[in-house]
Amino acid sequence: MFFASLLLAAALTTTAPAPPLTTPFERDPQHNTTATYAECIAFYKKLAAAYPATAQLREAGPTDSGQPLHELVLSADGTFEPAASRAKGRPILFIQNGIHPGEPEGIDASMLLARDLLRDKKTLALLAKVTVVIIPAYNIDGMLNRNSTTRVNQNGPASYGFRGNARHLDLNRDFIKQDSRNARSFAALFQRWRPEVFVDTHTSNGADYQYTITLIPSQHNKLAPALGTYLQGQLLPALYQGMAQKHWPMTPYVDFDGETPESGLRAFLESPRYSTGYAALFNSIGFMPETHMLKAFGPRVRATYDLLLTYLQTVAAQAPALLAARAEADRALAAQTRFPLAWAVRDTASGTLQFRGYEAGHKPSAVSGQPRLYYDRARPYTRPVPHYNDARPTAHTTAPVAYAIPAAWGEVLDLLRRNGVVLRPLAQPLTGPAEAYRIEDYKTAPRPYEGHYLHSQTRLSTQPAATLPAGTYLAVLAEQGPAARYLVETLEPQATDSFFAWGFFDSILQQKEHYSDYVFEDLAADFLGKNPTARQQLDAAKKADPALAASGPAQLEWVYQHSPYAEPGYRCYPVLRWLGAVPK
Ligand SMILES: [Zn+2]
Repeated sequence: MFFASLLLAAALTTTAPAPPLTTPFERDPQHNTTATYAECIAFYKKLAAAYPATAQLREAGPTDSGQPLHELVLSADGTFEPAASRAKGRPILFIQNGIHPGEPEGIDASMLLARDLLRDKKTLALLAKVTVVIIPAYNIDGMLNRNSTTRVNQNGPASYGFRGNARHLDLNRDFIKQDSRNARSFAALFQRWRPEVFVDTHTSNGADYQYTITLIPSQHNKLAPALGTYLQGQLLPALYQGMAQKHWPMTPYVDFDGETPESGLRAFLESPRYSTGYAALFNSIGFMPETHMLKAFGPRVRATYDLLLTYLQTVAAQAPALLAARAEADRALAAQTRFPLAWAVRDTASGTLQFRGYEAGHKPSAVSGQPRLYYDRARPYTRPVPHYNDARPTAHTTAPVAYAIPAAWGEVLDLLRRNGVVLRPLAQPLTGPAEAYRIEDYKTAPRPYEGHYLHSQTRLSTQPAATLPAGTYLAVLAEQGPAARYLVETLEPQATDSFFAWGFFDSILQQKEHYSDYVFEDLAADFLGKNPTARQQLDAAKKADPALAASGPAQLEWVYQHSPYAEPGYRCYPVLRWLGAVPK
């Protein structure tokens, strides 16, 4: 009795004891269990209820699963809103988990980390310097679709979610087209926070090597120079050092052209369809940590936990440099007129890495009898390998004063608005200098990719255009702030992940009317008779193209396309480049 009342007195005089919040990962002695969606959200609800002054769990819009997206915000003094966090000079560290639910380390590591941060005074102090936002599970749909077989090459956990979402979309290809409600809710959340650092947790496939965790940062050349320099010079070295101190030596993501990593590690060129490519459009430094699929689940979760903690420690320590680099990048974006549209990693090595791999060899396959690759874990090595980490633009554009988007293209207007673009409807028609693109040529993938038949190798011609009808939406470059680069890379048809490339303008690629040959023959002859210049052009075209010279129907089509009978809208890209003054 005496003992019990003493305990009660102690409990009343010290801070409240930590509630018994444990995770399925911890409760499994084998550490081979990842939380289900229900367990994950129930855990965070309990956690937020236990620490209302320092943690807030909020719904953040719908997903294709029917369940809402959640955000958990952690702050030492209850600074749970982006504006308040910015006003206090705190960078935002945004962690997203479960985009591929079969790669769930981040889901479990974030649960443990959030709890540990909140109940330990020392780590809580970090949350006075950095505001942490966590998406507990992004692809809820896939997480609910649990199985034990789809990660065929992966060493645990015992069961896990599926990569595709409820519409069978890979959400890590959905950041530009935003077919899923998950992506639309994410965009709203990301635009609200516009984090300085964005981390999207994954598990790798591919080669065998010694590392438990590898890292894909935003490709540094693709970031604004101030951010690229800060990333290479300060942030990455501190992350690698922090992880080495925690006994997790780390390497850049192991992607290579040859059969094994000795051929050299090649930077992953994340176009804006990917999470970190999307983040880079808005001057956010993105990361995809990739744990190694052949290591046990326990160490993979621990390494992810330590990496997320290292991010927090590093961002807290480097906050002034990070904020200064972001501010400089935003200033540069406001003044930028020339924009890269596509990139390629150079074939010249940018440096050498000391790589900890395993010797590889070949032996006869028990399936086919043919030689097969294997890695020999009994023969580890550390060896210099080339690092290909230098990317260069392969296409550019000079941005117009504004893009003019006809009101008819509602889906595109919705996407632009949702991603932070400021649009102005024209009350009156506007006349002045402008450019219109005609789509001269393009290639289309023969099979669908993520629900779309992607276009590439687009060739354009530019024609003058003049009047914008009332109701047209103007997206004025100078008014876009951080959305300027997104605007250019989505609306310029030649950009890798433009809306044109994703098929949002496909209806202009089809002619709506045509002619009957025998009727048009006489009209065409009459047209050529009255237009000697057209006749000369046709003769020149025939000389240059023997197939045209040999084909009557092809020549008739040529005349049609160069006559006033041709449809003006066919292959005319409807978004104009406005070059004149804009109304106040
Ligand atoms: Zn992944």
